[in-house]
Amino acid sequence: MNHSIHRVVLAVVFAVQLCRAAPALDIIVDDADAGFLSVNGLGVPIFMYHGLDSAFGFNAADFVAQMDWLAAGGFHTITLDHLKSWIQTGSPALPPKPIVLTFDDNYITIYTVAYPTLGARGFTGVNFVHTAYVGVVTSYDHADWNEINEMETSGVIFTESHTVNHVNLTTVNTTTLNNELVNSKTAIESHMPGKTCRHLSYPYGGYNTTVIARTQAAGYLTAVTTNGGVNNRSTPLFELRRYGINPDMAAATFQSSANAGLTGGVWAAGSSQSDYYGVGYHSAAAGNGQSVGWWMFTPPQTGLYMVYARWTTGAGNASGASYVVHHTDGDTGVLKDQSVNGGQWMALGQFTFSGGRQTWITLANNNAGGTVIADAIRLSSVTQVDDWHLY
Ligand SMILES: [Zn+2]
Repeated sequence: MNHSIHRVVLAVVFAVQLCRAAPALDIIVDDADAGFLSVNGLGVPIFMYHGLDSAFGFNAADFVAQMDWLAAGGFHTITLDHLKSWIQTGSPALPPKPIVLTFDDNYITIYTVAYPTLGARGFTGVNFVHTAYVGVVTSYDHADWNEINEMETSGVIFTESHTVNHVNLTTVNTTTLNNELVNSKTAIESHMPGKTCRHLSYPYGGYNTTVIARTQAAGYLTAVTTNGGVNNRSTPLFELRRYGINPDMAAATFQSSANAGLTGGVWAAGSSQSDYYGVGYHSAAAGNGQSVGWWMFTPPQTGLYMVYARWTTGAGNASGASYVVHHTDGDTGVLKDQSVNGGQWMALGQFTFSGGRQTWITLANNNAGGTVIADAIRLSSVTQVDDWHLY
């Protein structure tokens, strides 16, 4: 071999080896890995807090511990706008273990306790303010407009309406009812540049058909109650359910409330269809979307990735397995026919993912036309392969 050609070949081999040594050109998450969640995801709990510290008889550290438990358990906060859109259209897809954190009455602990605690954990929350008392000290202090705007701009705590004077809307005349709904929305929007107030919390949980009709007419898109229970796609938007939560409540009660939207057991572990990746697969019968599996990924670097899915070979497998890829630019649904091409990496498409940020690919059993197989998902970096040409 000519000496100079030999050197070029060595350089190319060296460059390829360097790339292979770079972090995670291929990332595979199997259904047996910790990054796969097979819990159901049809219900979204909303938590309702009030004051959080000793002025209210609580220890702020207990609230922090509750948020730590949610973070460690893989819960993801969503906004009320997201919940509304999901109830109405099924999109954007829910993250695993979704939850909404709300805080009524604008007590100062929304700013001093909730704001830093949620922000440090990547959570969001909703502050329901009665606008006549913003910045006013009564028996308790309340956050002022500067603090409310700071929390909003930070993207951590979003402020919505709890009426003007915190009246029970079922007990007032029509003029007062309308004023409480319209003027609180107007006050929020006039004190918060660029803000559109879309959500209401009924004071004392008081509502009826008249209150709902006037709330809709005033331009609200959802309203939360004090009725317990999780929210699913058939929950009325003006009767969203909430669990009342205190920082000092029993851990078992707190945790069961957080887990109320998740019921396991619909995905079955299996290995009889033999061409699985890893140690087996999970399967679910066709249904209406109550079985959802999540494969969680944190790509090490931003770039374009080819996403592949694997399933196994079985005559009764789903003809329309419904994957959703959650990527930097949004959610993309991909239907795959799992009655063919088992035991292979089959492409779902190319998508951009953000480095260091957790993302996920889901598979649900809605309208599947057969048994849905959750086996493995692979992300293969396209950007990094292109980089090889630069060496
Ligand atoms: Zn209240």
